[in-house]
Amino acid sequence: MSSGKAKGQQFLKGEDTVMKKDFDVIIIGGGPGGLAVGSMLAREGVSSVIIEKDSTVGGRYRSVDFHGARVDCAVHFLVSLEGTVEGTYMYRLFSHLGLPLEYKVLPWAMGKVTKEKPGNIDFLEMDPKLGAGNFFAFFAFASGVEMEDSTKKALLRMADICEDMSEEECRKAVNVPFSDWIDKNVEDPMGKLVLYGMGPVIGAPVTEVNFGMVANSWRTFNTVGAPLIWYFKNGNLQTAVLDPLTKYYTSHGGKIITSRTVRNILIEKGKAKGVRISDEQNNNMMEEYHSPVVVCAIPIFEAVHKNVLERRFLTKDWAEAVKQFQKLAVYDLSGFYLLRKDVIPRDGTGWVNIYDMDYGIPTYIGDVCSGEFINSANEPPGKQIVCSMIPGTLEGTNFGIPTRWDKVMEAHRRWKDAVEKAFPGFNDAIEDEAINLQLNFTRYAYAIVPTEVDIQSPNIKGLYFGGDSIRSIGTPMSDKCFQLAFPLCDRILDYVRA
Ligand SMILES: Cc1cc2nc3c(=O)[nH]c(=O)nc-3n(C[C@H](O)[C@H](O)[C@H](O)COP(=O)(O)OP(=O)(O)OC[C@H]3O[C@@H](n4cnc5c(N)ncnc54)[C@H](O)[C@@H]3O)c2cc1C
Repeated sequence: MSSGKAKGQQFLKGEDTVMKKDFDVIIIGGGPGGLAVGSMLAREGVSSVIIEKDSTVGGRYRSVDFHGARVDCAVHFLVSLEGTVEGTYMYRLFSHLGLPLEYKVLPWAMGKVTKEKPGNIDFLEMDPKLGAGNFFAFFAFASGVEMEDSTKKALLRMADICEDMSEEECRKAVNVPFSDWIDKNVEDPMGKLVLYGMGPVIGAPVTEVNFGMVANSWRTFNTVGAPLIWYFKNGNLQTAVLDPLTKYYTSHGGKIITSRTVRNILIEKGKAKGVRISDEQNNNMMEEYHSPVVVCAIPIFEAVHKNVLERRFLTKDWAEAVKQFQKLAVYDLSGFYLLRKDVIPRDGTGWVNIYDMDYGIPTYIGDVCSGEFINSANEPPGKQIVCSMIPGTLEGTNFGIPTRWDKVMEAHRRWKDAVEKAFPGFNDAIEDEAINLQLNFTRYAYAIVPTEVDIQSPNIKGLYFGGDSIRSIGTPMSDKCFQLAFPLCDRILDYVRA
């Protein structure tokens, strides 16, 4: 029990009630994963409490204030493999809860920067109508070489094979290295070369990437052509997702306790019993909250790393997979720039992958997002706000753990150079800038670790995992959190009602 009054205790509103009360369900972490499962449970009349270590909920979905404009701290865009926003689990969750979600589909453009044409950026925009043809167009754009028909045929065959695979079949193929699959199934030498060359796009050499993950995205290629990129019609992640979910959750009986860090999960006789909490500032143990159901909605590797989840709560191969995942974890760099005047055109340049020819075969340098994309309504008058995204997995950057600052700065310089080439005057126009480095382990590492971790502890009854997790197959990036909320809710309901 509590070691007495600790600093910061005033944060707990109605603390006495909270501290003595048992909860039906305890959710650790108030990121999108925690809010999604909490809201689903609230809809079913199951009361829960979210315990969040920061002073506000949101996790890596938080938006921050930058010169009066709210910008998303980490996330830059949302993705659908289905070709429709309605097909995403975020959309399904919002519909399920009766909440509106207004969206816009964004053009996904590749920008090629060349020294020969300063001030010019060549764009290739993905066209969903082209299906797999997008791949050929992209190849020709990036390499400057048209693909032979025999190569196109070989790649179309691969798209056909993948299209016929079910999610379950993809899941079974996570143990097959992509390179093995290519060697066995692709005869055309150029086709082989193209697929081997996909490593940097996937984020790792094809020898390390599993075929199941590749097949899962390729199976939509014929119909969708390229993943659909979308964002909200109005507002940002804070106003379009976090605020309505928080409101829904709390108005349906959910409780949120902020500025409290869960240190351990309490177990008794093989069953979840609750959590032990301290405050973040002075690490004082303050309280134990009790519940037969605990949902660990913080990223699983962080939870294991910080010993919130003990390895004994996982199977041996899950624990091994989490360890591997931790080793692969990288940081991504987000930058925010206030420009004195408009430099990035506002038409058709919402979000662009920049490839720079000066680094050899067009080298992917990072992304640029214009102010329009990040809610131009809030930009200071006469100024432009621009965002960057530099993945830590880029060749020659690799912001691993621990991250070397000189590598980060080098990648940042490369990005600025490339943007300057495409949009001259960019560097001069910068009035203020801020960068933000955050761990983003889900980006590609899931393609390399073949083991999937389920949403339920195999050893401890009543213990569930609801944050970023190791699910190789399924929906990409943060949409996974919303996807997991559905089966999590079902399993928890079965357990509490049994
Ligand atoms: C730089 C970057 C770019 C990204 N880009 C995209 C993108 O473009 N599109 C996309 O879909 N996804 C993107 N993501 C991924 C997305 O942010 C995550 O998938 C998503 O936030 C995961 O949600 P979560 O709830 O599992 O974890 P988080 O968002 O990390 O939330 C976990 C919460 O738990 C809290 N917490 C942690 N430990 C404890 C503890 N011991 N006790 C109590 N609380 C605790 C944290 O403070 C946090 O609020 C990006 C991530 C990063 C970092």
